[in-house]
Amino acid sequence: MKNNHKLTTDSKLPNIGVTIFTVMSKLAADCGAINLSQGFPDFQADPALFEATLRAMRDGRNQYPPMAGMPELRTAIADKIEALYGVRYDSDQEITVTAGATQAIFTAIAAFVRGGDEVIVFEPVYDSYVPAIETVGGKAVYAQLGFPDYKPDWSRVRSLISPRTRMIIINSPHNPTGSLLDAEDLAALVELTRDTDIVVLSDEVYEHIVFDGERHASVASIPELASRSLVVSSFGKTYHITGWKIGYVFGAADLMTEFRKVHQFNVFTVNTPCQIGIADYMRDASRHLGLASFYEKKRDFFRDQLRGSRFELLPCRGTYFQLARYDKISDRPDREFAQWLTREVGVAVIPVSVFYQDGRDDRVVRFCFAKQEATLAAAGAKLRRV
Ligand code: PMP
Ligand code: GLN
Repeated sequence: MKNNHKLTTDSKLPNIGVTIFTVMSKLAADCGAINLSQGFPDFQADPALFEATLRAMRDGRNQYPPMAGMPELRTAIADKIEALYGVRYDSDQEITVTAGATQAIFTAIAAFVRGGDEVIVFEPVYDSYVPAIETVGGKAVYAQLGFPDYKPDWSRVRSLISPRTRMIIINSPHNPTGSLLDAEDLAALVELTRDTDIVVLSDEVYEHIVFDGERHASVASIPELASRSLVVSSFGKTYHITGWKIGYVFGAADLMTEFRKVHQFNVFTVNTPCQIGIADYMRDASRHLGLASFYEKKRDFFRDQLRGSRFELLPCRGTYFQLARYDKISDRPDREFAQWLTREVGVAVIPVSVFYQDGRDDRVVRFCFAKQEATLAAAGAKLRRV
């Protein structure tokens, strides 16, 4: 393209490149490697979901839905939240359907964080949070999940709170570590935020993927926390449809009013027939309640595959990610190791240092086990040879 004027762009995000998920998935495709990097299933979703969605399309339900989402979907979400966490959210005022959790997170940050405000995040931190904070002129303040148990240190978090702290973002079950926050963690958060104006943004997209009989601790189940929180979830994770990009956010009406002010001009709303299809499909609760045992079998299968390898597996209490130390195999930095594993061994993974602002490298990589057993077995055979 020819342009006479040389435009100088002063990037708002000078240190941000292409997300690691795009980089590693592309490398996997280029090398023909088994892709255990970006988190998505390699198996098909339930045909009943497609039929319900196609029915909606054929019935002519193809125009704009209400800004907050289809009423039947918001009611189904309210019913699910009540059944799981014992609290009724108002489907008209307190639940909004979003274009995936990513948009919910970005919009929530844009709605509440002003220039110069501080937002506390926990490292290793999911990659979309900090760019969203910085895009709106906020400042990320970093707390740490300890290595290798990935637990928060709440007294340290207390010392990071300042008059400028506007938001704390938590994520449980946690990507990339597979760790969980429990009731004591949430109690500590209640104490920390009491009598402040801090909004809690709780990323609970893996709420149904919790293992070994444990229960997901949602901020929704604690009234004092719920009243200052927006909770985010994603149908992509729950129904194996990451490419549909549909999620939702729920929270107290005063917070949701502010969220929607931005949402209506950010995406306005989310496609109609998929919302109707999901509303119909989610009425059968076994479809989300069965997810934990479904993925627990995959976790155990994948861990068995790596038994006898030189990878050292860290605990995985939830999500569909398994972390592994590789210091018995190589002393390369994790980004290099991930590239090498993809190119030379044929298995793509995510290096965990990308989730640290200073590139802290504990020589740990992340595997996604949301895959068919044949895929996990083929990867296991390669990984045991390393
Ligand atoms: N938060 C976390 C912790 C995630 O792992 C993901 C995606 N895997 C998202 C948010 C984004 O979800 P979505 O694909 O629905 O935008
Ligand atoms: N959340 C997914 C993961 O952690 C990736 C989502 C994306 O590619 N943006 O792998």
